[in-house]
Amino acid sequence: MNNPLNPHVLISEVGPRDGLQSVKATMPTADKFRWIDALVAAGVREIEVASFVPPKLLPQMADAAEVVRYGKQKAGVTIMALVPNLRGAENALRAGADKLTMPVSASTAHSLANVRRTPLEMVEEVRAIARLRDELAPHVKLEAGISTAFGCTLQGLVPEDDVIRLAAACIEAGADESGLSDTVGYANPAQVRRLFRRLKEEIGDRAGAAHMHNTRGLGLANCLAAWDVGVRTFDSSLGGLGGCPYAPGASGNVVTEDLVFMFEAMGVSTGIDLERIVAARAPLMQGLPGEPVYGMTPDAGLPKGFRLAA
Ligand code: ZN
Repeated sequence: MNNPLNPHVLISEVGPRDGLQSVKATMPTADKFRWIDALVAAGVREIEVASFVPPKLLPQMADAAEVVRYGKQKAGVTIMALVPNLRGAENALRAGADKLTMPVSASTAHSLANVRRTPLEMVEEVRAIARLRDELAPHVKLEAGISTAFGCTLQGLVPEDDVIRLAAACIEAGADESGLSDTVGYANPAQVRRLFRRLKEEIGDRAGAAHMHNTRGLGLANCLAAWDVGVRTFDSSLGGLGGCPYAPGASGNVVTEDLVFMFEAMGVSTGIDLERIVAARAPLMQGLPGEPVYGMTPDAGLPKGFRLAA
């Protein structure tokens, strides 16, 4: 989290990872490259480009190392990779990722179903990854994203104390920052304000990104609530790619185009050009023909006389 008085926000585009791993089709590597080109041309400065998991489990991510290496050619752009375990982290570090993000679920049921480990076992994995990072590439940042932080389809309610304790444990284990993810789209703005406030009280400047989903239409409201309590990094996905498997027909991740519009209209600079970010949908749609893309701003266009924040 930056200084809350600093109006600048960082939009972290997660479509090439979160979005692509949630759709059935596999985007050809060349289309991923074109998509990354278009995102960078629009001013995106942080992109989660891949997930380092066995290709047998996720064929969509079989080219993860290649995509990281491609992204690394872009000056001034942080290339992030999701790593579920130590082996994934080693592969991501060897490919040259600038930043690793490790999903740690606050719901034991979700954690067991997803990675067959308890949350506390995942904290030990964070510790092992941090150690490996220190050895191989000490400049690389490690983020622990607390998933199901606002509720879980399997467990239902996730106690807020569990979320905050887990985030603190990840920092203690060597993560540089810890953010909160509304993995299944259960969050509401009051809850978002409360939990991020507590997170900041607990781990201070190490409080990381808000990863919100739009499953129930509250994605932007939740981002605004997080902004209100000082969050300055937001995950989102171009075209809202990454439909939630638990809510057919609903978009998953917050739509980057709409998020950029909201902040820019408020006078909060994102560094992203709206027309160019909308244009970045072209390579995405080319690479995934027939896949639905969401977004109100791209559909409606910009208001007359609209200007980007200074
Ligand atoms: Zn997501």
